[in-house]
Amino acid sequence: MIKKIDFSKRSSIKIGPIVDVYQIEDINYPKDAILIGSANNLLISPTPPPLMMLSKKFDYIKEESGKLIIGAATPSGKIVSYCRKHNIANFEFLAHLPGTLGGIIKMNAGLKEYEVFNNILAVNIAGELIEKKDIEHGYRYTDINDVIFEAHFKIENGFENKRIEEFKIMRSNQPKEPSAGSCFKNPPNEYAGRLIEEVGLKGKRIGNMSFSSVHANFLVNLGAGTYEEAIFLIEKAKKEIYEKFNIEIEEEIIVI
Ligand SMILES: Cc1cc2nc3c(=O)[nH]c(=O)nc-3n(C[C@H](O)[C@H](O)[C@H](O)COP(=O)(O)OP(=O)(O)OC[C@H]3O[C@@H](n4cnc5c(N)ncnc54)[C@H](O)[C@@H]3O)c2cc1C
Repeated sequence: MIKKIDFSKRSSIKIGPIVDVYQIEDINYPKDAILIGSANNLLISPTPPPLMMLSKKFDYIKEESGKLIIGAATPSGKIVSYCRKHNIANFEFLAHLPGTLGGIIKMNAGLKEYEVFNNILAVNIAGELIEKKDIEHGYRYTDINDVIFEAHFKIENGFENKRIEEFKIMRSNQPKEPSAGSCFKNPPNEYAGRLIEEVGLKGKRIGNMSFSSVHANFLVNLGAGTYEEAIFLIEKAKKEIYEKFNIEIEEEIIVI
């Protein structure tokens, strides 16, 4: 099945064309299409290659043999609601982290020391259940290069509302305008936001895109910002940081 998606509305950064996206129903998916989740970490060009995403069939949460089994199309908010209702711990950090489980696992998304890999047991990748120990993962990185269908987690009791409040406070320095989260990964022992600030690009605006004046590592859309404006700012930051600090910063945003 094909679904038409308007990425200027559906992506978190509010940039992108209206395109047909193949809906994955089972293991028979096109091998040449680019996989997306709910587009919270993406910058999509006006002419992207063919795209695919999991269908709603993979939006589920169940408990089996003492494990929590979650479909990869399940949104983070739904996982938090389920855990709150069933008093399950360790998923509180997802309350302020937009995405679907597949995107969250692929990016090993998280907040400070809380990462989704912390309590994963195994991930179904392209139809095969792979144990956590066999998946390479680190800061905002995994070696997963195929479709995640679902993941199995340990169940620990004790959902903590207090943690949700802590995470909310941690996020209070984030801008309110549309973005795709952090633009660059933090280099080792450094903060990408600080480097952007040091080269004078905090608050720098080109057209309707800007490095936020609230938090420099957020590339924000101030209204009808374009792909070209976003790319211009990304390239400018990379170049100027390299010239001043000899550091090659790497995008966290995925450009498609
Ligand atoms: C306001 C804001 C705040 C954010 N804060 C944080 C934060 O604090 N910490 C953090 O880590 N991230 C943060 N992000 C980024 C984003 O929430 C995460 O990267 C999230 O994992 C994206 O999930 P998604 O479903 O939208 O994936 P997408 O953005 O659609 O895709 C991201 C990547 O995941 C891959 N992918 C998607 N689905 C699957 C699948 N089923 N199988 C395999 N690969 C898949 C895609 O191919 C792509 O490479 C933030 C984003 C926003 C907009």
